[in-house]
Amino acid sequence: MVDAAVLALLFASGLATALGAAPLILVRRLSHRTHDTLLGLAAGIMLGIAGLELLPQSTEHATGSPATTALGIGIGAIAIFGLVRLLRRVPLPMPFVGNGVSLNPGAAFLIFTALAIHNAPEGLATGIGYADGLSPQGHTIALAMALQNVPEGLLVSLAVYAETRSLRAAFGYCLLSGAVEPVAGLVALFALGAVPGGLGIASAFAVGAMVSVVLFQMVPESHRHGYHRAATAALALGLAIAVALDAGLGWAFPQA
Ligand SMILES: [Zn+2]
Repeated sequence: MVDAAVLALLFASGLATALGAAPLILVRRLSHRTHDTLLGLAAGIMLGIAGLELLPQSTEHATGSPATTALGIGIGAIAIFGLVRLLRRVPLPMPFVGNGVSLNPGAAFLIFTALAIHNAPEGLATGIGYADGLSPQGHTIALAMALQNVPEGLLVSLAVYAETRSLRAAFGYCLLSGAVEPVAGLVALFALGAVPGGLGIASAFAVGAMVSVVLFQMVPESHRHGYHRAATAALALGLAIAVALDAGLGWAFPQA
C-alpha cells in the first residue's frame, strides 16, 4: 500500500502545475523572452534533479553493473521518442474546448502534449524518490518538481488561452497536464513494489526520459525566438536552484 503522506505529496507536487494558471487572472500574454526564460528555468531544475538525485540513486542501486544504468537511460530516451511519435499520429480528444473554438494542433495543443508527456518522467522521478517511504531525497525531488511545474503550468495555460480565449480551456488543459504526474508517480511506486530490485534501472529510465525531454523539446523550443542567451542563463539558474534545494533539504532532514 502507498503511504497516505506520500500519496498527498505526489498529488501536491504534480498539481502545483495548476498554480501556474493563477496569473492568468492578471496576465494574458507573455513576451517570447519571458516564455523562453521560464522554459529554460524549468529545464535547468529538471537536469539538476536528474544529475543530483536520480543518477546517483541508479548507480547506487543498479544490481550488477553500470551497464544496468546505461541500459535504463537508453530505454528512457527511446520511450520518450516513441511517446512523442505516437501522440503525433493519434489525434487525441480535446475536452474543455467548447464548440465553436478550435484548438490549433500546431501550437497550443503541441505545447500541452509536450508538457503532459514530459510530466510522466517527472512523476516517475517523484515516485522513485519516495520508493522507501518519506525521505529527504523524496522531498527534494517532489519540491523541485513542484517548483518547476508552476512556470510550466503558466506556459500551458497561456498557450491554450491565446488560441481559445477560454479561461476554462486554459485551466482545464493546465490541470490535465499536471495530473499526468501523480499518476506516473503511482505507477512507479506500484512497479517498484512488484519488482523490489528495480530501483536502479527505474531511476536510470527516469534520467534518460527527463534528459531527452529537455534536449528534444524544451531547449529547442526555448531557443526558437532568438533568446537563447536568456534561456541558457535561466537553465544555469535552474541547475543552481536544484543544487540549493538538495543541500537545503539534506540539511533540514538529515538522513538517519
Ligand atoms: Zn518539467
